Amino acid sequence: MGLTVRERLESIRARVAAAALRSGRDPSDVRLVAAVKRVPVERILEAVEAGVEMLGENYVQEARSLKEKIRAPVHWHMIGNLQSNKARQAVRIFDVIETVDREKIIHELQRCAQQEGKRLDVMMQVDLAEEETKSGADPEETRGLIEAVAGCENLRCVGLMTMPPFFDDPEGARPYFAELRRLRDRLQPLVPQGAVLRELSMGMSGDFEVAVEEGATLVRIGTALLGPRNA
Ligand SMILES: *Cc1c(COP(=O)(O)O)cnc(C)c1O
Repeated sequence: MGLTVRERLESIRARVAAAALRSGRDPSDVRLVAAVKRVPVERILEAVEAGVEMLGENYVQEARSLKEKIRAPVHWHMIGNLQSNKARQAVRIFDVIETVDREKIIHELQRCAQQEGKRLDVMMQVDLAEEETKSGADPEETRGLIEAVAGCENLRCVGLMTMPPFFDDPEGARPYFAELRRLRDRLQPLVPQGAVLRELSMGMSGDFEVAVEEGATLVRIGTALLGPRNA
């Protein structure tokens, strides 16, 4: 206890860099998304002041009220389940939707983005755990979804995101991270021109070093940076 958000950020950045170097990667290829759900706004502001440039939110409502309080020019990532009836607000609020996992939401996002005169980056959330309760597309569906996005003028697919099942030992998540990278490598030559699957969003507080070793370009970190969330 007692560490400031700034000190935690420094420590996380050092761990990210060490993990990148261990696997022969350039540390600057890995960026941090602060996962801010249910965190008091003061702590989020501390993170932004300390240099965090990307904020990830799970809830559209919460993001909307946060955005009024956080005026700094940060990038807003949607990292929670997106319902179709929230698509318009999501388009207004977010720069990137990381959790696209079905055709219906692609068409809804395109329709709203066009009406709002906005371009939006999206990522495909892939469910590698084969658990029916998890959100995310099946790996075999991902190519079709990327093709659907390529047909949408206002949307651009920039990568893949995944959330493995929970493991006490972060090594348990490694095969899922490796699988997302392999899926990206398989899909990249097959997807329509213009879709560059540059981003792999994977890794959270408990397992981000493993994710970086396996190729993460975005790590979504909540508690390790911001401390405990409200219930
Ligand atoms: C909450 C959340 C995170 C961050 O979780 P921590 O374990 O607190 O780092 C990352 N990604 C998603 C999708 C989340 O919902």
